[in-house]
Amino acid sequence: MHKPLSWITLGTLSLLATLAQPVWATEVEDEERALERQQETDADAPNKPPHRIESSNTDHSDTNEATGEAEPAGPDPLPLLGQRVQPGTFATLHWTPDQSFASIATPVPVLVAHGLKPGPKLCLTAAIHGDELNGIEMVRRLMYELEPNELAGTVIGVPIVNLDGFRSGSRYLSDRRDLNRYFPGNKDGSAASRVAHSLFGNIVSHCDYLVDLHTGSQKRINQPQLRADLDNQDVVAFAKHFGGMTVLHSPGVTGMLRDAAVKEGIVAVTMEAGGPNRLETQAVSYGVQAIETLLENLEMRKASRFWSAPQPVFFESEWIRASQGGILLSEVELNDKVKKGQILGTVTDPISNTGSAIIAPYNGRVLGMAVNQVVHAGFAAFRIGEVKSTEEVEAQAEKASKKKEQKENNGDKSELESEPVPPKAPPPERDVDRAEDISSLDHQNDGGNEPHP
Ligand SMILES: [Zn+2]
Repeated sequence: MHKPLSWITLGTLSLLATLAQPVWATEVEDEERALERQQETDADAPNKPPHRIESSNTDHSDTNEATGEAEPAGPDPLPLLGQRVQPGTFATLHWTPDQSFASIATPVPVLVAHGLKPGPKLCLTAAIHGDELNGIEMVRRLMYELEPNELAGTVIGVPIVNLDGFRSGSRYLSDRRDLNRYFPGNKDGSAASRVAHSLFGNIVSHCDYLVDLHTGSQKRINQPQLRADLDNQDVVAFAKHFGGMTVLHSPGVTGMLRDAAVKEGIVAVTMEAGGPNRLETQAVSYGVQAIETLLENLEMRKASRFWSAPQPVFFESEWIRASQGGILLSEVELNDKVKKGQILGTVTDPISNTGSAIIAPYNGRVLGMAVNQVVHAGFAAFRIGEVKSTEEVEAQAEKASKKKEQKENNGDKSELESEPVPPKAPPPERDVDRAEDISSLDHQNDGGNEPHP
């Protein structure tokens, strides 16, 4: 029997769970904005080569792990965060992000189940955004039901990456930056970049697989889902292990943990489940079941409740935007099937009483949508997904990886590509500057104070 977690009381959990609404929300608006920013950046500096982090550990001694090379978990003790975890044991380690001064720095708990049998290393990270609680509870449930004696491989769980944000109920770090835009980080960069670098080097680089757990903001709701780069064959294979969970193709954005991990050869997906500032038992249970199914499919242990759904459902999706500003009122619900030409919602100027409809441009399913609210022109209001068959997804991933291989073989002289030639020297690491960061908050930094939809 493992000891109960002390950093959050069960009373709080059950209170929050009672208050929870069955609303699925996601951070899509941030991803949206980040994608747009990335597209703008890419136009200036295309084909940024994969970022290779240098030696990872600045304050811990397991230097032989610094390369991120996964060593077999088997009977050897696991060196992590300056400790050695014995096979067949469960340990609570501590990671100290380096941004604070030492005497007030608060170590972040890291839970490790190191199996007696060899197998892969799976990492679970939660609350990179400090107000996203469902992932914290998922990690707790999963970690404390593992039996290291029965486990093949290792599970490393970081229930609350952003402890400062968690304490203050904020999505952001204490400097109001979004940590999930700074990976893999830079030891000489901004505070957020240093925290990212420390987490990446000390923990993430040890993983073979990573599931980064998130929930969304108040502004939009969506189906529980994995976000995965379906142009990557390894990621496609990994995403198929989560039972019947919906998988959305999302190439990822520079600075996101998932993106940085994949670039380092760590197979990673993001899981979105529920909304922030609340504990939703349905969302938690859904996520736990998906990860239990993953553990079984990775042959790390027998699942207590295996998800019988044979395959996930893959989607390509597109956001449909408001063409004018005003009050958005939806006419569809989440997960509705919609037909081309159908009205998804209306936007009405409350003063002039002029309005316009938002129309479905193709047949599909409502995978994400904004809650009724005041919007600006261009606001992404409905995410409509088109189902892709597993065969289509696999064929596309194979094509994409062949293309990538060819590109690498041809170096800068690719004749098949019409894309611009990549720069010879890697551009300096993009570090979102303070002004940009703050402006990006303007739109939604009050979200946490709004009542739940
Ligand atoms: Zn998040």
